[in-house]
Amino acid sequence: MGDEVIEIGARLATESARYAAMGWMRGTSGNLSEVLSRDPLRLVVTASGGDKGELTEHDAVVVDEHGIAVDGGKPSAEAGLHARIASVSGAGAVVHVHALAPVLAAERWPDGVVLRDLEMLKGFGRAAHDDVVTIPVIGNGQDMTVLGDAFERGFRADTPALLVARHGVYVWGEDLLEARHRLECLEWLLRFATATSMNVVEGSA
Ligand SMILES: [Zn+2]
Repeated sequence: MGDEVIEIGARLATESARYAAMGWMRGTSGNLSEVLSRDPLRLVVTASGGDKGELTEHDAVVVDEHGIAVDGGKPSAEAGLHARIASVSGAGAVVHVHALAPVLAAERWPDGVVLRDLEMLKGFGRAAHDDVVTIPVIGNGQDMTVLGDAFERGFRADTPALLVARHGVYVWGEDLLEARHRLECLEWLLRFATATSMNVVEGSA
C-alpha cells in the first residue's frame, strides 16, 4: 500500500475506534471511507471483518467506483454504496454506522424523517429555524446497486445523510471530520425525534 493509503487507513482506524467506543460500530459492523482520487474514482475503505475498535492503518482497502478492490484486499460488502454516495454527492468522506437511533427513526417514518426547529440542525449544516429537513429512508438489502439506485432517487445536495431501514445510517462530508460532526448531530436529532415522536406531518395535522 502507498503512503497516502496508509495515512488514510490510520485516519479510518482512529475514527472507527471513536465510533466503536460510542457503541455505533458494534462487533464488526459499520465502515468508513475516504476518497483517494476522483478521476478515476478510488476510495480507501475499512477492510471487512475487523473489530472496529481495533483496526490499524493497514486494515484498509482501495476500491473502484463499484466498490471492487483494486489492490487485492477484502473491502466491506457495503463499499459499493460508499462509492456511489461519493460519486453522486462529491463527498470526500463517507461514514456508515449501526447506531440505534437512526434505525428507530427509519422504522417509525419509513417515508423519510422530518426535522425542524432544532438547534442541532446547525451542526448538520442546516438552519435551526425556518428550515424543514427530510432525511431520506431506503429499504435494506444486500445488492449495493439496488441500494445505490434508491439512494440516488432520494438524493438532495443539501441533505448529507441516508437512513437504511432496519440497518443503519450513512453520512458524508468534505472530510472525515465534517462527516463525524454531521453524524454526531444527526444521531442526536434522531434520538430526539424518536423520543418525542416529533414529526412535522403529524404535528401539523
Ligand atoms: Zn451496515
